Amino acid sequence: MKIFKFGGASVKDADGVKNVANILTDHSGENLVVVISAMGKSTNHLEKIVNACVHSTGETATLIKELKDYHYSILTRLETSNSTAMTNDIENLFLELECLAETPVQPEEYDFVYDQIVSFGELISTKIVSHYLLNMGIKNQWIDSRNFILTDDRYRDARIQWDETEKIIAKKLKPLAERHPVITQGFIGRGPVNETTTLGREGSDYSAAIFAYCLNAESVTIWKDVAGVMNADPKKIENAILIPHLSYSDAIELAYYGASVIHPKTIQPLMAKNIPLLVKSFIHPLHEGTRVSNHSEALSVPCYIFKNDQVLVELKTRDFTFIVEQNLEHIFRLLANFKVRCNIIQNSAISFSFVADSNENKMQHLIAEMEKLGLETRITALVELITIYNATEGSKNAVIGQKEVILEQNTGSTSHFIIRS
Ligand code: ASP
Ligand code: MG
Repeated sequence: MKIFKFGGASVKDADGVKNVANILTDHSGENLVVVISAMGKSTNHLEKIVNACVHSTGETATLIKELKDYHYSILTRLETSNSTAMTNDIENLFLELECLAETPVQPEEYDFVYDQIVSFGELISTKIVSHYLLNMGIKNQWIDSRNFILTDDRYRDARIQWDETEKIIAKKLKPLAERHPVITQGFIGRGPVNETTTLGREGSDYSAAIFAYCLNAESVTIWKDVAGVMNADPKKIENAILIPHLSYSDAIELAYYGASVIHPKTIQPLMAKNIPLLVKSFIHPLHEGTRVSNHSEALSVPCYIFKNDQVLVELKTRDFTFIVEQNLEHIFRLLANFKVRCNIIQNSAISFSFVADSNENKMQHLIAEMEKLGLETRITALVELITIYNATEGSKNAVIGQKEVILEQNTGSTSHFIIRS
C-alpha cells in the first residue's frame, strides 16, 4: 500500500486535476490511498466565510458564490460539468455549506464553526477529482476521511485518537483500498460527538502520515510544485540545492523551524514505523526528489529557513526582581493557555524573551495578561526569524550580511537570528 498526497497547488486548476489523473494512471494497479487538499487557495477563502458568518458582516453569500464560481470554472474546463453525478454532489455540498453559513453563531463558537465550514474545501475537491477520474475510466472510491480519522474536540488543532483510528482503518479502510484506489481528504477528522474537526492549517501531510501509519504503508509520496526538499527557499537564495536523502531527525528539525515543504507533525508517525517519505515534483513526476528515511548520513550542506511575520516579546519584572521559577511558571501557563508556539525562547536574570508567529488578536490579549502579572512588556512587531540548520563557517555571512540582528541564539550547529523586517 502506498499513500499519495496532493496539496492545494497541485489541484488549483483543471490542468492540475488532469495532471493528478496522469500521475495516478502511471501508478495504476498499485494499492493507493490518495489524500487531497482543498483546491488552490480555497481554505483561505473559506476562512473569510467563517469570519463573515461569525461577525455577521453580510458578505457570506457573496463569498460562497465566489467559491462556487471558482470550482465550477474548473468543472467546465474539465468538460465534466455535464456529469450529473458530479454536479449533484457538488450542488449538495454547496447547499449544505450555505445552510451552515446561515445558522447564527456566537463568537465563542469560532473554532467549532471554523472546522464545520473550512472542511468543505477538502470535501469539494475530492469529489471533483474522484468523479473526474471515474469519467476518465480510472476506477477509484471516494471515502469520507471523517469516518476514519478520529480526534478529540480541540477544534482547529485536533489530536488523533490513535487506538480507535488505527482499529477502524485496519478493519474498514484496508480492505477497500486493496480493491481500488481510495480518494480521500486531508486535514479533516471526526470529533467525539460526530462533529467535523481539523488538524491545523496545512495538515494534509499529517493526514497522509496517519493513513500510512495505520495501514503499515510501504511509503508516502507528497507531490509538490518544487523538486523536493531544498536547502533553502529558491525564491530567497540563489543556488538553493535539492537534498536527495534526509534522515527523519533532520526532516523533523527542518519542518519544526519552518521549512514549509513538510508539515512538522508528519515525520514522527512515519519514523515510528520506518516508512519512507518521498517528496516529489508533480511537474516532473519521474525525477527522484527527496527521500526521507532512516538513512543516517550527515547532511552535507547548511539549510536556511526564513520565517516572516514574527513578533519578539521581551518581559521584565517591574520591581527589578529576578525572573525565577515562579514567574516562569506563570509565563509558560499563559503561553500554553493562549496556544502560542514560541519559536525562540531566551532568558536571563531579569528578562525573558520569546519569538512567536504574530497573531495580533491573540498577542494583544496575551500581553494584557502578562502585564497583569506585574511584568513589563516590550514588543517588537514583525521581525523575521532566520534559522541556519547545520551551520558552517561561511553560512551566517551568506544570509545575514549587513542585516541588523536583534537577537542571536546558537545551539550546537543550529543558529537562529532575529532580524528587523
Ligand atoms: N487545505 C488545508 C490548508 O490549506 C490543509 C492542507 O492544505 O494541507 O491548510
Ligand atoms: Mg491547502
